[in-house]
Amino acid sequence: MDSTRQTDTQNVLLRVRGLKKWFPVKSSLGRTVRHVKAINDVSFDLYEGETFGLVGESGCGKSTTGRSILRLIEPTAGEITYRGKNVLELKGSELRSIRQEMQMVFQDPHSSLDPKKRVGYAIEEPLIIHRLGSKQERLERVLSLLEKVGFSEEYYYRYPHELSGGQRQRIGLARALALNPRLIVCDEPVSALDVSIQSQVMNLLQEIQAELGLTYLFVAHDLSVVRHIADRVGVMYLGQLVEQAPTEQLYAEPLHPYTKSLLSAVPIPNPRAKRERILLRGEIPSPLNPPSGCIFHTRCPFVMEACKSVVPKSREVAPNHYVQCHLYDEDLSAK
Ligand code: SF4
Repeated sequence: MDSTRQTDTQNVLLRVRGLKKWFPVKSSLGRTVRHVKAINDVSFDLYEGETFGLVGESGCGKSTTGRSILRLIEPTAGEITYRGKNVLELKGSELRSIRQEMQMVFQDPHSSLDPKKRVGYAIEEPLIIHRLGSKQERLERVLSLLEKVGFSEEYYYRYPHELSGGQRQRIGLARALALNPRLIVCDEPVSALDVSIQSQVMNLLQEIQAELGLTYLFVAHDLSVVRHIADRVGVMYLGQLVEQAPTEQLYAEPLHPYTKSLLSAVPIPNPRAKRERILLRGEIPSPLNPPSGCIFHTRCPFVMEACKSVVPKSREVAPNHYVQCHLYDEDLSAK
């Protein structure tokens, strides 16, 4: 990970603006009466060749964001621009071709791999679906992908149940690589693995990224994992991106009160070092009925009167460091 990377000089691969995913809640008569606001107005850029980590507690909307970008679920509103094309307007062959370039590695490879199909077929399947290559060419491609993720040819005939969790995740990665993607959404790819295996899989992800120039959107709840792998990090709370910054800057100097509280809970490897734990009051509010004003105001230790009614805007408070909080809004924080 290169923390000195100057993202403003890189090419934007994917631009997300005002992304929303609201799930309707129906009455017994079938009418939509409310919405679960899983993602509410999320904007960020992904730069070519970087890893952007999306973190937050369970249910904050980070996985829904990844799935919406790939249109595995249809967003309610917003814009997703991939290499200049509006992904949400694409249909037919254009959509299929962009889907080849954007792939996903899932949290649980056990459920994403068909237990009745051999490993070789699992990797070959995307090529069959997209009608790419002859049978011999596909075989060669599968064998080279097996080698890339550290397996010998004999694994071609294995079944998923014969593999460990880490091995299955490596097969999931080989399958995601089959179509030569440029962007991979990694949805909690190591959270189901033992800690010792986690670092092997993360190292493999980094090696393959360096070799192929891939861009990763890395979704995770574990802040230590994200720190290890990401160039920049975005912090989500209740469907909104409340802070984003280059990784080292975010971990050294978090600005949003929610980010501060999350980081205060991460253990420090040095037993002599002390860090004050910031405990939040109350529970995360329901995305069915998010708070007015700042969505974090019901739990924030620094809440001000204005926070209860005025929605904070995202501000760039240092180069590439954005925060959505009135403490950094000179007009409001002075009141
Ligand atoms: Fe806390 Fe107000 Fe900032 Fe929200 S806007 S995080 S409530 S200080």
